[in-house]
Amino acid sequence: MQTLTVDLGARSYPIHVGAGLIGRAELILPHLPMPRVAIVTNSTVGPLYLDTLRAALEDAGVSVLPIVVPDGEQYKNAETLGHIYDALLAARMERKGTLIALGGGVIGDLTGFAAATYLRGVPFIQVPTTLLAQVDSSVGGKTGINHPLGKNMIGAFYQPRLVLADTDTLDTLPDRELSAGLAEVIKYGLIRDAAFFAWLEENMERLLARDGEALTFAILRSCRNKAEVVAADEREGGLRAILNLGHTFGHAIEAGLGYGVWLHGEAVAAGMVLAADLSRRLGWLTVAEVERVRRLVRRARLPDRAPDLGLPRYQALMGLDKKVEGGRVRFVLLKRLGEAVVTADVPEALAAATIEENVA
Ligand code: NAD
Ligand code: MG
Repeated sequence: MQTLTVDLGARSYPIHVGAGLIGRAELILPHLPMPRVAIVTNSTVGPLYLDTLRAALEDAGVSVLPIVVPDGEQYKNAETLGHIYDALLAARMERKGTLIALGGGVIGDLTGFAAATYLRGVPFIQVPTTLLAQVDSSVGGKTGINHPLGKNMIGAFYQPRLVLADTDTLDTLPDRELSAGLAEVIKYGLIRDAAFFAWLEENMERLLARDGEALTFAILRSCRNKAEVVAADEREGGLRAILNLGHTFGHAIEAGLGYGVWLHGEAVAAGMVLAADLSRRLGWLTVAEVERVRRLVRRARLPDRAPDLGLPRYQALMGLDKKVEGGRVRFVLLKRLGEAVVTADVPEALAAATIEENVA
């Protein structure tokens, strides 16, 4: 097991990464103000991992209330949140009781928001079980739910007391979900860690084979990169925007196809290749560097081209993107492999050519 501390002053917390962690109650106990928890999970992850986590805690004298919600992004909503409150209230969960999220980013966001709001805030622990959740959504303190009018529109910044990333849980993750998580991993290399990007070029096959040691390294390195960005900009004043590399194009792909057709990570992967290609057009990357990005994305079994929605559709979708400030699209681009910049100074013609020459 390896540990990283997210440095947020009084709200600092550890991220433990390694194999077999969900069976180790001693890692959780020091973070519980009283021996009482509710574990929120879903109908896919619950049958796989709830018993192990629950038994470990109960053997250590902790009372456990399991709350199982249906699986899917469509359940990250006010109705499911209401069911969680109902279960907590019915069980008279006190203010010192801890909520544990056991699942992917959907469960983490939902449970985190429940913890932020139930009794005006109760302790919260993340046990992320997707690669995306282990490297991205469980770090940074964003929690929330979707609204019928928009994704993640209701939420709060609320930090966990602990993140327990058990690499063994990734053994059951579908291949496509693993690859989607790898998109965000590659992202950290591209935006601020050239050495990590080179490591990924050397070790992609080990990650795809779910080698525990390689996964532990990649997860910890990803979390460290995200944690450093978040520590410098906890509430998204500026720097944190670099975490959106590939997301301007990616959100257009997701929205254009209809949410859920491509996984978020798949859209981000193609989006990062487009961002690299646009960076080349601005004179920042070489052709060879763009090819390195494209090749790594493909080796991670991710798409390196955007779906052909037609240029006008992309332009409309990207104009609506929330990264627009004062009417101009702000792009996260690459000055070099390992250094991102945020700029609104992109000639429209270059953005258009990037889209037209990178659709499948
Ligand atoms: P997810 O939570 O929907 O999980 C993907 C699928 O994998 C689900 O069907 C889930 O049940 C299943 N699953 C989870 N763990 C498994 C395991 N170990 N074995 C087998 N199946 C498993 O999706 P995700 O990609 O983890 O997260 C996406 C969500 O995260 C979105 O709602 C997004 O908005 C949110 N998100 C939040 C942040 C943040 O900063 N808070 C950042 C990125 C994404
Ligand atoms: Mg993302």
